[in-house]
Amino acid sequence: MYCNYCGKVIQDDANLCAYCGTRLGSVAGRRKLMRSRANRKIAGVCAGFAEYFDLDVTVVRVVWLIVALFGGGGVLAYIIAWIVMPEEPEYVPVAPPATPPQPYQGS
Ligand SMILES: [Zn+2]
Repeated sequence: MYCNYCGKVIQDDANLCAYCGTRLGSVAGRRKLMRSRANRKIAGVCAGFAEYFDLDVTVVRVVWLIVALFGGGGVLAYIIAWIVMPEEPEYVPVAPPATPPQPYQGS
């Protein structure tokens, strides 16, 4: 794989780039561009981008809003991202067991 900071080829299982010392997130696995459930305002698109690019979600929203207001393509881009980006899987806390069959309670 390649260091995403300096671009040099490094060991596949390296946690640290040998050339520039950048810590690589190999432990967390490859991040996917997904719509965030936790930080969503509308569809979680901005939060998803923020998580993916490791940016502040507020910055992403502000930039997106500026693009939408001045460029006009922002709203369309948001809708496209909304459709295209998969939604982050829902984190279900340990699911309660299915209701066990109730024992027959007498008469
Ligand atoms: Zn590097």
